[in-house]
Parts: sequence; structure tokens; C-alpha cells
Amino acid sequence: MKILVINSGSSSIKYQLIDMADESVMATGLVERIGEGQGALIHKAHPGTDREAKIALEQPIPDHADGLKLSIDLICSGENAVCAMDEIDAVGHRVVAGGEKFNRPVIVTDEMMPDLRETERLAPLHNPANIGGARDAMALFPGVPQVLVFDTAFHQTIPPQAYMYALPYKYYEEDHIRRYGAHGTSHKYVAKECARLMGRPFEELNAITVHLGNGASMAAVKNGLCVDTSMGLTPLEGLVMGTRSGDVDPAVHHYLAVNRGMRLAEIDDMLHKESGLKGLCGMNDMRDIHAAIAEGNERAQLALDVQTYRIRKYIGSYMAVLGRVDAVIFTAGIGENDQVVRAKAVEGLDPFGMKIDHDINETRSKKGRRINAADSAVDIWVIPTNEELAIARETKNILQ
Ligand code: ADP
Repeated sequence: MKILVINSGSSSIKYQLIDMADESVMATGLVERIGEGQGALIHKAHPGTDREAKIALEQPIPDHADGLKLSIDLICSGENAVCAMDEIDAVGHRVVAGGEKFNRPVIVTDEMMPDLRETERLAPLHNPANIGGARDAMALFPGVPQVLVFDTAFHQTIPPQAYMYALPYKYYEEDHIRRYGAHGTSHKYVAKECARLMGRPFEELNAITVHLGNGASMAAVKNGLCVDTSMGLTPLEGLVMGTRSGDVDPAVHHYLAVNRGMRLAEIDDMLHKESGLKGLCGMNDMRDIHAAIAEGNERAQLALDVQTYRIRKYIGSYMAVLGRVDAVIFTAGIGENDQVVRAKAVEGLDPFGMKIDHDINETRSKKGRRINAADSAVDIWVIPTNEELAIARETKNILQ
């Protein structure tokens, strides 16, 4: 079975074709700057093998349907084709927000479109593109199942005490305002992978998963089920992110409106795009922040301190939520690569049984690995996330 995984963003499409027989990647690619003057596409056939062939194109790509068509042409025709179009058995799509209705992967139908459109207000930056991608693929691949895999689905086992905000109840009933979380596909994937590496059933694993990329979130996983997560109604709540504030006093909106005359849209934009690490020190890439710290930049140090303190605070609160913690798992761009952030995130937690081995922590690897000291009661892991493979597996599951 060959599954094409598509992640459509507002001006980009990431894709991977996966052969489920051995879960190998047959082709991968990234289409960028869709709808801008000059678009770009980087495609690799048989990536990471001695047959790897790379194609880079620069040309106008007016819309997502064109971008997808271009990608399919590279996958299925020309000298570097990896398979015929009719060999693609299904397409799996990443969708950020499923709301309460879409609590598991679905094979998309035209009848679902009105309900899917309802979810767009929960993730206005992501969902319209995600769902548009599925619509384009339905047209390009008539009769081929299109499966939507929702980032929020893993969080649907969170109990009401954790997902409810203490607002008047009507806003939950009428407007569906509650915490939904995000990055669920990644949290589930790394928690499952950790259980496999630890040699224990996923259904018995209690873990705290820490996904630190440009967006960042954490989850508390009890007996293989998510029981709490740091993102909320939207992916703004929780940890300090590249440009997103994470937790702030909700009265900040009123305060800024009254004292600075800022409009709501401006404040929202500031919290999403000008805050987080960037807001604190002007940089949102951790590599730049470390370089600046090495040169004595105090604001960069502050940004690192605020970010890692917040992670530690969430680890502490999820320990209280879970009672027994078997593993803390770091993943995504920062979690997989940044030993300083990992060490600071668990600093001082020895009395709670979390102790990192600094030498192992500093050893670089692309593999899942344990980085805790031998006398640590809790395992600490670094596990590379693989959302594309997770989506392909979910797609295969639902078809079977
Ligand atoms: P997303 O998928 O949310 O866009 P990623 O998971 O790819 O993000 O993470 C991107 C971030 O990872 C970068 O902004 C950067 O801060 C961080 N990062 C990537 N490589 C490294 C590295 N070697 N050391 C520290 N941080 C890194």
C-alpha cells in the first residue's frame, strides 16, 4: 500500500509518499510561496538512498491545486518517477483542528464539508489550507480515499476538568469554547515510540511529552491516553514559542486597548507573531539565541530562561496530574537538537526523580535515545517526531 501524505499550509505544501510495506519514503517535497510572484518546489525521489534524485523548480505557482498537480507530476512521471498515479492507494491529510465533532481520522466526503468549514474558525491560519488541500486532492485523485488526520484527535480523551475554561457555561455550549490542544499526532507518535523503545505496552505508559518546534506544546499521557495538554482553544496558549506568547493574563487585551488604544486584531497579531522568544529578544530561532548568549546578550539569556522555566513549570504540573511518571520525552526541532534547553527544562528536578546524564544529553544523534542518569527514577528520552509517518499509519488503519 502506497500512501501520499499532504500537509497544506497557507502558502506551502509538504508531501511524502510512503510505501507502507516497509514504511520507506519513496518521495518527499516542499512547495513554497504559492500565490506569490515566483513559487519554488524542491522534490526528492528515493530520499536518503543511493538512488536519491533532487529536483528544484522556480516558477509561478498560482494556487494550491497547481502546487499539488506539479508535485504529483514529479512523483508519477518523468525519468525520476517513483510510481504510477493509480498505484497511490490513499492520501492522508494533516488537519490542525477538528473541534469536538472530528475526534478521530475520517475518510472525507462532500457531505462533511459544511461541518469541516465550521472548524476553520478554530485554526484560521491552518484549517482553511488543510481542508482546501483535501478538496484539491479529491479532484486530482477521483475515487482514491482521502483521509483527514486531526492534530486535536489525540487530545479528545482529556477530561472536562482539564478542557473546560471557567467562563460562563453558555460560551462552551453555544460557541464551543474549550481547550482542544494541538500537535496531537506528534505527541501520540513519540509517546508510542517511547513505549516501544522501553519495551512496555503503550496502554500502561505514563509520560510527559514535550514538543518544542516553532510551535511548542506539552501533553500529559496516562495509560496511553492524553489527559491534559498545554495548548488551548487555539495554538496560542501554553509554552513560550518562536513568536507566540503562550500563557498570558487574559486581561492583557483590555489593558493594552485602554492604555495604548490598540485594536483587538492588533493585539491578537502581536501575541501570535511578535511575542514569544522573538518578543523577548528579537530572535525566534534557538540557534541564533545561543549564538547571542555566547556574545553576552542578556535579552537572549532572558528569552531562554523564560522559555525553559515555563517548560519546567508544566513538567511539575503534569507530574501532579499523572502521579506516576515513567518518561519525559523531548521532540521536534528544539527538543531533538537543543541539549541546553533540555538540561534547563529538567534542572533542579532531581528530588522528583528526574536526573539528566549531561554527557549523553550532549551527544548528537538522529535516533530515539535515553538521556537520563542511571540513578534517575524517571526515564528522560529524546525521540524524533515523524508526523508524516504517523498520518500514513492512521490512514492505513482507517482503510483497514
Ligand atoms: P515547526 O515544525 O514547528 O516549524 P521544527 O520542529 O522544525 O518547527 O523546529 C524549528 C525550530 O527548531 C527552529 O526555529 C529552531 O529554533 C530549532 N532548531 C532547529 N535545529 C536546531 C539546533 N540544531 N539547535 C537548536 N535549535 C534548533
